[in-house]
Amino acid sequence: MSNISRRQLLTQVTLVGGGLSLQNMVIPNAVAADMNNKFNNKPLSDHDKKYLLRAIALSEKGDYPYGALLRFEDGEIIEAWNTVLSSGDPTRHAEMTLFSKIFTQDLDWIKDRGKLKTATLYISAEPCTMCAGGIFWVGIGRVVHGASVTAVDDIYKEIYPDTAFSQLPVSVMAALHEVGVDVNGPYLNDKSAEVVRRRVKSAFDDNNPFEK
Ligand SMILES: [Zn+2]
Repeated sequence: MSNISRRQLLTQVTLVGGGLSLQNMVIPNAVAADMNNKFNNKPLSDHDKKYLLRAIALSEKGDYPYGALLRFEDGEIIEAWNTVLSSGDPTRHAEMTLFSKIFTQDLDWIKDRGKLKTATLYISAEPCTMCAGGIFWVGIGRVVHGASVTAVDDIYKEIYPDTAFSQLPVSVMAALHEVGVDVNGPYLNDKSAEVVRRRVKSAFDDNNPFEK
């Protein structure tokens, strides 16, 4: 199923709770393309490439193949990776693990808002909806990410043809862009996707949690 047909499929789905229509959360293709043009056409700088490659390297350490790195303006770096299996907690994506880590260290969310706003989050692949929400609530000012959520989902389906969705199929990067986050990606698609493709099978073996 192509990304476009998935998008069209989602427009048919309605969430009954609170009368909220998922259609409102799905960005029409033309609008998405216009938004993507605003933040996806910048070449990847050597500086960003260095840290995105590090985030991709961190994805090798994750229970599932995802890694994240937060770099503050002063050069301080905090790293994390997916710990979903070892923690038994499905919310322990690399980004959420990273956020928990920075706030259990010496960072104060209220006092350090400025520091967070000028930080850059490097992620081995495009964040899921949960982690994009985390980026918004934490107040990270800038994101640089690897392969898109739809590219990642396609890899899962390639390895496990019976997969329903391994990712929520809606990119919320355009929404983050709209609220002022400097979004950059997808970059280094081949390198980012290669780790996912290589490690998904060994991480799940015959126990695909996203089976239809
Ligand atoms: Zn996530």
